[in-house]
Amino acid sequence: MEIAPGIHRIRCTFGDNRVVFVHLLVGDEASMLVDTGCAHNPEQDILPYMRAVGFDPRRLRYLLMSHSDLDHQGGNQPMKQAAPQAILMGHNLDRPWLDSTEALIQGRYAQFEADHGIGYGEEGKAGIRATTLSLPLEMTLEGGEQFRLGPDWYVRLVHTPGHTWGHLAVSDPRSRALIAGEAALWNANLGADWQPALPPTYCYVDTYLATIDRLLTMDIETFAPSHWPVQRGPEVAEFLSESRNYCLHVEQSLLDLAHERPGGFTLREAIGLLGPSLGSWPEAANQDFSYAMLGHLNRLAQRGMLNAGRDANGYTKWSLTP
Ligand SMILES: [Zn+2]
Repeated sequence: MEIAPGIHRIRCTFGDNRVVFVHLLVGDEASMLVDTGCAHNPEQDILPYMRAVGFDPRRLRYLLMSHSDLDHQGGNQPMKQAAPQAILMGHNLDRPWLDSTEALIQGRYAQFEADHGIGYGEEGKAGIRATTLSLPLEMTLEGGEQFRLGPDWYVRLVHTPGHTWGHLAVSDPRSRALIAGEAALWNANLGADWQPALPPTYCYVDTYLATIDRLLTMDIETFAPSHWPVQRGPEVAEFLSESRNYCLHVEQSLLDLAHERPGGFTLREAIGLLGPSLGSWPEAANQDFSYAMLGHLNRLAQRGMLNAGRDANGYTKWSLTP
């Protein structure tokens, strides 16, 4: 569907009940696709959509990654095959994980194994490998770049870190639309049925909050995120404020937990104790709270409010600073 002049929103499904929207910007002079979904999404969703609207993928000039993650870069190989002339681009800070699926697995999905005993197992990693057909970037960006898509149409990249270090959003001043990716994650990541599917997966709390504050100052009429419905007009600030308030609420909940448990707690314990009261996603998805919770725990430790030590298993344990 076209959500603003020249901006098409393409629904891509994956897993049992997940959805990711990729965006196609069609200009008179150049066109851009933002994200490629998972490995199967170009064939299942993106190319059929292009055919239906009469867009030849060989017209695509830019293939932009909003950030590194399996459901955004997984279709890069098949998409590049369909549009070999398109330049594959992403933020320099996300380059290692965009270039290589193995680096993404090691850096992102296996990051909790050694210190917290939390991981996806070999079966989970095999699933990620099959879903994520990465390709090395051909050009890296920093945010602020402008792309001329037509005589009176320029779009601009906005560096929006938090979910990843190098997350990028695309701002269209002509329609006041923002292709937002996962710059703000509301109070849950939604499934294909628009019900909570997993906890919000922001990772770096300081930059995440700064990103939300920056977006709140922008004049956005149409906010098009990857895993949530399009937000329009006053809904945009509501979505952003809810993202911010939820993040602060999680941090306060962790501090409260530290007060209640003088003996401290591990990441696994924090997720198990707080997860069910902080959202209504399926229980199995609670593990994905590791990203946000570790972000908060690191931040609280940096500020000297929590002490980080080790438990008998060698896992990190946090307790209130006396
Ligand atoms: Zn995603």
